[in-house]
Amino acid sequence: MSRFLDRRLSGLTPYVPGEQPKGIEGLIKLNTNESPFPPSPEAVAAVSEAAVKDLRLYPDPECSALIGAISEEYGVARDQIAIGNGSDELLAFCFHGLCPEGAAFPDITYGFYPVFCEMFGVSPTVVPLRDDFSVAPEDYAGVRGTVFLANPNAPTGMFLSLDGVKELLEQDPDRLVVVDEAYVDFGGESALALLPEHENLLIVRTFSKSRQLAGGRLAFAIGSRELIADVNTMKFSFNPYSANRLALIAGEQAIRDVKYFDDCRAEIIENRRYTEESLRGLGFTVTDSRANFVFAAPPKIGGRRYYEELRKAGILVRYFDKDRIRGYVRITVGTRKQMEALIGASEKIIMGGVSEK
Ligand SMILES: *Cc1c(COP(=O)(O)O)cnc(C)c1O
Repeated sequence: MSRFLDRRLSGLTPYVPGEQPKGIEGLIKLNTNESPFPPSPEAVAAVSEAAVKDLRLYPDPECSALIGAISEEYGVARDQIAIGNGSDELLAFCFHGLCPEGAAFPDITYGFYPVFCEMFGVSPTVVPLRDDFSVAPEDYAGVRGTVFLANPNAPTGMFLSLDGVKELLEQDPDRLVVVDEAYVDFGGESALALLPEHENLLIVRTFSKSRQLAGGRLAFAIGSRELIADVNTMKFSFNPYSANRLALIAGEQAIRDVKYFDDCRAEIIENRRYTEESLRGLGFTVTDSRANFVFAAPPKIGGRRYYEELRKAGILVRYFDKDRIRGYVRITVGTRKQMEALIGASEKIIMGGVSEK
């Protein structure tokens, strides 16, 4: 720490992203919930040489074409949509500007929430998940800060039903609930249907997981006109051009190519079913995931040991050294072939007499 750092940030411990190994060749990468598939061919084609040449020009700060596509696809008005540089940026705005009374979220959830609290001086209220890792809406009754709900949740993959989200919203109409729907396209229930009736709802969606554009850094928020105006005020007070030209072009096509989007997520859902079933067959404890990852605890050995053994076998998954979930690893769902390799390696690790150190 230099002597120039603002003391308010002296306790800041940054978010640790999943490893992005340099030599990816030969490694099966199932650790950061990216799609195993390329972006839509339409998206790839749209990022033409001419589009690259246009990089001399600033992108459209209004993101009009992309917002038009999202508006048509989701049936919401254009002024109810804001675009960000990944949902991490939109969530940062939420913590920075929409948490005047603090923020509330589960103990086991997206690891960036507590980091944002530290970064922006927001006081956190941590509401533990139930023993089965479920979110119990009644546990939030009386909690005052803005509620952040990753739904489906990460890293458990479990989702809260629409009724549960509704209960959270109706506990206190003056309390904002931000629903982070990074994984909703893989089988959760979107809160979108609750939007017309609930002004205290803000939904955040990303192109990183279900639209195969993690490297494009693109996301959107949907909410009331007033909330979206607030998000845009922050965006235009920080970086009006946070979504770059190429990402905007690719993102628009990714939204319009509904068939490719549906095919990819259907394949992920099927591969998830195969993976969960196979792991359960090997004696793993597996949550009921509605995301593009599986959350699984091996029998006999801890999560760390399993993670290490998989790594030796050339398979990278995510282990969280955190209370309550040290028995588990999070495994991104990839192609069928990748998942078969994972199951093969897991079988060897579990049956091969690898014992707890
Ligand atoms: C991956 C993830 C994000 C971040 O997505 P980006 O759009 O890539 O910034 C946000 N929330 C949750 C719960 C995630 O898992």
